[in-house]
Amino acid sequence: MTNTPWPKAYRIKVVEPIRLPEREEREKLLRKAGYNVFNLASDDVYVDLLTDSGTGAMSQAQWAALMEGDESYAGSRSFAQFQEAVQGITGFPYVLPTHQGRGAEHVLFSTLLQPGDMVPSNAHFDTTRAHILANGGTPVDLPIPDALDPDLDRPFKGDIDLAALEALLRNPPGRVPVVMLTVTNNTSAGQPVSLQNVRAVSALARAYGVPLFLDACRYAENCFFVRERERGYGSAEPREIAAELFSLADGCTMSAKKDGLGNIGGFLAMRDLLLYGRCREKLILVEGFSTYGGLAGRDLAAIAVGLDEALDLGYLRDRIGQVRWLGERLREEGIPVYWPPGGHAVYVNAERLLPHIPRDAFPGQALVGAIYVEGGVRAVEVGSVMMGPEARLELVRLAIPRRTYTQEHLEAVVEALGRVRDRARTIPGLRLVEGEGPLRHFVARFEPIA
Ligand SMILES: *Cc1c(COP(=O)(O)O)cnc(C)c1O
Repeated sequence: MTNTPWPKAYRIKVVEPIRLPEREEREKLLRKAGYNVFNLASDDVYVDLLTDSGTGAMSQAQWAALMEGDESYAGSRSFAQFQEAVQGITGFPYVLPTHQGRGAEHVLFSTLLQPGDMVPSNAHFDTTRAHILANGGTPVDLPIPDALDPDLDRPFKGDIDLAALEALLRNPPGRVPVVMLTVTNNTSAGQPVSLQNVRAVSALARAYGVPLFLDACRYAENCFFVRERERGYGSAEPREIAAELFSLADGCTMSAKKDGLGNIGGFLAMRDLLLYGRCREKLILVEGFSTYGGLAGRDLAAIAVGLDEALDLGYLRDRIGQVRWLGERLREEGIPVYWPPGGHAVYVNAERLLPHIPRDAFPGQALVGAIYVEGGVRAVEVGSVMMGPEARLELVRLAIPRRTYTQEHLEAVVEALGRVRDRARTIPGLRLVEGEGPLRHFVARFEPIA
C-alpha cells in the first residue's frame, strides 16, 4: 500500500454520523432511484464523492467568523472583510458578491454578451456554457489535443490551444467580447493551466483588445500545481503565484463553494469601473444589493476566512496529495484512471473497465451504479448521459470534498472499485427510460438491459 507522503493539515473536532447500508439494501435503493444516484438520499450514501462543490468541512476559524457575521443590508462589516480578502488575493479593485459561481456568470454574461457573440475558453464548465447559450452566445472550447488522451502524463493538460485561439481572434465569425480561461480546467478532468499559457493568452487577448476573465473557482489548486510543476515557482508561496495569475487577467468569476472553502457563495471581480457599474445594476436586480449579493453576512465572513485558508501550503499539499493518492491506489489495483489525477477528482475510464458495454448502453452510468452497490460510494457520470453524443470520453468522476474524508474512507472506495473490477463482466448496460435535454443527467431514470 502507498503511504501518504504529506503531513495531515488538520484533525477532527466535530463529527457527522454516516452509515453503510447492507448490500441487499443498496441494490434495492439503486433500483428505486431508477439507477440514477442523484435520486438517492444522502443518508443512504457511505462515502459521497458526487461533488466537491460546497460539501467540504469548514475550519474552526470559519465557524467562529459565522458568529461575527454582520447581517446589515447595506455597508455590512462582513462585506468589507470579504472585499478585502478578494482584493488582497486578486488585485481586482471591484468586487461583487453572488450566491454562487453561476450567479457571477449570469451577471457577467447578461451584461457583456449580445446574440451571435463567441466566447472562447480552454473548456467551459457546464453552467458557464449554459449561461453563454442563454444569452445568445456561442461557447467555444479550445483545449490542447493532449487533454483528449487519457493516458498521456503531461503537467498542464488544462492549457488552451494558443494557435486555435489566435485563429479565432484574428478572423472571428462573430464578435468576441471576452476570452475565458478555466483554472483548473474542471471539464477537462480538473487539469491545471500553466502560467506560461495564461501569460500567452493574456498577451493575445490584449493584442486583439479583448478582456480576459478567469473562471477562478479552483485557482488555488491551480497555483499549487504551478508551484509543483512549472520551472521557477518551486519555492514561491501560493499567494504569490495567485497574484501573478490574476495580474494577467481583467477579471474573474468565482464559486466560493470550491476554493473559497464555503458551503455557499461566489463573486465577480474586475478592473473596469464602467463594466462594474453595469454589472452592479444587474446584480441588484437578480442577486441582491452589492454588499451582500444573495448571501447572508455570516457567509461572507466565513468565505473571507476560507479564501485565505485555501492558499495555505499545508492545506493544498494535503488536498492535492489526497486526490493523487486515490489515483495512484486505483491504478495499482488495475483500475483505468485518467492520468495524471487533477486537482479535485479522480476520473475512472468506464469504457475500459466495462468494455462489453457499448456507448449507447451508458458504460459510465452503469459503473456509477455498480460502485454504489459494491461500496455505498456515490460518484457521477461524465460521459454520454451528461454530454450526449458529443462526449469525448466515458468517465466516472470521484470528486473529493475538502477536509472531509480520511484515508480509510478512500481505501473503502478503492475496495469497492476492486470488487467492481472482479465482477466487471456481469455488470449490465442501461436503457434510458426517462429524461431528456442538456440537464437530463440530474433527472434521468434507467433500467438494466437483460
Ligand atoms: C462549480 C463551478 C462553476 C459554477 O459554480 P457554482 O457555485 O456551482 O454555481 C463554474 N466553473 C467551474 C470551473 C466550477 O468548478
